[in-house]
Amino acid sequence: MAWYCSGQTNSELIENLFEAGLIKNERVKNAMLGVDRAHYAPSAPYSDSPQPIGHGATISAPHMHGHACEYLIDYLHPGSRVLDIGSGSGYLTHVFANLIDGPSTGKDGYVIGIDHIQELIDLANKNMSKSPEGRKMLGDGKVKFITGDGRKGWPEGAPYDAIHVGAAADKLHPVLVEQLRAPGRMFIPVESEEGGGSALSALGLGGGQYIWVVDKKADGSVHKEKVFAVSYVPLTDAPPK
Ligand code: SAH
Repeated sequence: MAWYCSGQTNSELIENLFEAGLIKNERVKNAMLGVDRAHYAPSAPYSDSPQPIGHGATISAPHMHGHACEYLIDYLHPGSRVLDIGSGSGYLTHVFANLIDGPSTGKDGYVIGIDHIQELIDLANKNMSKSPEGRKMLGDGKVKFITGDGRKGWPEGAPYDAIHVGAAADKLHPVLVEQLRAPGRMFIPVESEEGGGSALSALGLGGGQYIWVVDKKADGSVHKEKVFAVSYVPLTDAPPK
């Protein structure tokens, strides 16, 4: 279904996704209209499909970026702190930055993109510097790209109102839940435990990946919900140099 939403221009792509109901929220739509995908996915920027960006990484399809933003939208406001784990191209990090942009609240909001491949951190910085708005956000410290193992989060910037994980985890890493604000929300693809290690999973049957939405409520209690099946590259150890 998704490729029907592709367009000739960035705005055509986003408007098509909106008309098809794959993006429903106006704020998400406007935030995505504000980032030219050509700066992040040069080979087929306005196609609603994932694309390789080198180093074994992929930029996700635009409708997946839209879904991620919509699940997190109530936690994305001026002053929010956001952690984007597996930031890859930097596209979604930029969209999150647009979603927390706005009149000053006196709170120090920012988006941290973290990736374990230095070349991808360099690429994300380069991509974001292609637009004057992106350059300003980097210059103001509203967006920062950090090299590190995202499975540990980035405690220096915690607590986060929203954590997005852009690669599949083998479990709901407790340290990431710890770094959520109360209230706060995490969007994370996790390998299903069902069938894990069994003969079925060895055959690629059973198991699979699902998005989990993890809410930390104001009282600190944690609620988890499995929302839909997905296919992400895994969160792994950094490749040897
Ligand atoms: N949100 C990105 C997705 C990139 S693909 C985009 O749409 O462009 C997933 C990314 O996760 C890759 O860039 C990969 O390098 C990164 N990654 C994998 N394991 C990681 C880990 N342990 N720590 C940090 N980043 C990791």
